[in-house]
Amino acid sequence: MAWHQSQKRFLIPGEKMEDGKSIFTKIIQGDIPCHKVYEDDLVFAFLDINPSSPGHTLVVPKEPARTLDELSEESSQAIGRVLPKISKAVLNATGASEFNVIQNNGPNAFQSVFHVHFHIIPKMEDGSGLSFPFKSSPIDNNDGVKISSSIRELLGTPHSQ
Ligand code: AMP
Repeated sequence: MAWHQSQKRFLIPGEKMEDGKSIFTKIIQGDIPCHKVYEDDLVFAFLDINPSSPGHTLVVPKEPARTLDELSEESSQAIGRVLPKISKAVLNATGASEFNVIQNNGPNAFQSVFHVHFHIIPKMEDGSGLSFPFKSSPIDNNDGVKISSSIRELLGTPHSQ
């Protein structure tokens, strides 16, 4: 849950500031303090205020898209370009050699700040970091055929690929 400094209270998940800006836009614009680790024209990165492990970092496009499927190709490329090098720096700074990158979209998928962000979470030897397993079950082949063909069609992917 995000702390709202001027109102001295936590925002409820998904709530926006009264000016319509997400808390991450306020951080990017320097209105709310953060432990910044990276910035370029399109991307901003800073430490999570409530880390799962030391060095837990959020990588955020400056574009205020709410979820990943709404993000422009330009911002997506910019994020993809910097994720590996920010991850590498986080590993070197924390001494971790393993990590997770997680990205949540929608309240039921554990998103609480509605401005796209990628978590880089070092997995430490003491067990801190992300914990798995999540629930899963073996794929049903008929479902797999249907869903993959529907996604392929939407993406314009030739069936031979
Ligand atoms: P998510 O649940 O994927 O939307 O993650 C949102 C993350 O933003 C959480 O891990 C919060 O701890 C983090 N967060 C919220 N407010 C701030 C803030 N002011 N500075 C840094 N991280 C924040």
